[in-house]
Amino acid sequence: MAVPDLDGLLADGVRGQRVLVRADLNVPLSNGTIRDDSRVRASVPTLRRLADAGARVIVTSHLGRPKGQRKPELTLRRVAPRLAERIGRGVSFCEECIGEKAAAAVAELGDGQILLLENVRFHAGEEKNETGFAADLAALADLYVNDAFGTAHRAHASTTGIASLVDRAVAGDLLRSELEHLRVVRDPERPLLVLLGGAKVSSKLAVMEALAPHADVLAIGGAMAYTFIAAAGKPTGASRVEQDMLEDANCVVEAVRAAGRRLLIPTDHLVAKSLEAGASTRVVETIPDGWIGVDIGPETARRYAEEAAKARTIFWNGPMGVFEIQDFAAGTARVAEAVASSDATTVVGGGDSLAAIQQLGFSDRITHLSTGGGASLEFVQGLALPGVAALER
Ligand code: ADP
Ligand code: MG
Repeated sequence: MAVPDLDGLLADGVRGQRVLVRADLNVPLSNGTIRDDSRVRASVPTLRRLADAGARVIVTSHLGRPKGQRKPELTLRRVAPRLAERIGRGVSFCEECIGEKAAAAVAELGDGQILLLENVRFHAGEEKNETGFAADLAALADLYVNDAFGTAHRAHASTTGIASLVDRAVAGDLLRSELEHLRVVRDPERPLLVLLGGAKVSSKLAVMEALAPHADVLAIGGAMAYTFIAAAGKPTGASRVEQDMLEDANCVVEAVRAAGRRLLIPTDHLVAKSLEAGASTRVVETIPDGWIGVDIGPETARRYAEEAAKARTIFWNGPMGVFEIQDFAAGTARVAEAVASSDATTVVGGGDSLAAIQQLGFSDRITHLSTGGGASLEFVQGLALPGVAALER
């Protein structure tokens, strides 16, 4: 079903209307400063279009995990100036997100003005999707725009509950663009190469199971590769292996075989004595006792790069090694370079994967950088996202 979007809303005119936008301003913070404002920047187009059209724009978001309590260090107050700077318009802030104070702040908004409300997760009703809390949010607005792709896989009051309580609920530009690009992975031009890496099999098992028969080639890297190697009965030294996932790993192997697809597992490895910069390293085909696999080896990186060059669609989630440490970053860099250079439609998701792409300076050469790690994984495995389903009603 088509998801109603901002174009339709703007076509009917929004001047003077109160539009509540659920954005994803969940930025990473270090000691109170914003470490990366990608999510703020990604929220700008929708907010700017609404303000330009004369809407009274009310922005809501969560920040971190305050678990239903007011945590001063997780206030959105410090995000307001950054948002203002990125939009190039003033943004006022209200220390509440519902109730009298919020209503008063909304009442003060003129056409085209923007107000940011406090962290919705300061209220327990948000994550519980309580109707009362959703109704309190809905009371502030006439129209609702969900642009929080990163939270679209969660059924919360501000992402789901509110949608049926306002006159009209539509997807913002970021959400729409995410869905458009991720649909390409669901219905790809072939061959489809799926590169999966990162820390754990357990966090990506579901997507692996779903994509194993769908992808023409599934290439595994990162720590999760060692669980596959252990499952095949080969030595893994001191590498990170999830012992309780061996059977699941073999099921993925079997699913790929049954579907007549190809599964690629690293055939050489960079191993280190410890997970620290400066540790002694070797490239090996068989991991010796006491050594930790920290990156795919050069031959594996070459094979994966070759697959990237042949693919028409590439979905990549999860670094190929401990890329945060320069000595262990070569495999991730080689694969990133191949993905960036490929003629395929390329979609990269996951916080660490995006950080790797950005560090390497390849952002402009990727078709789509997905802002939502968990949401993108759920979507490409064919699950309905509650935040999107709520708009389809
Ligand atoms: P994303 O955020 O892109 O979804 P993940 O969070 O799943 O990725 O995984 C990223 C983490 O996996 C990084 O911190 C990286 O250091 C770690 N990692 C990758 N390869 C290994 C490895 N061989 N051993 C230990 N950790 C690894
Ligand atoms: Mg991560």
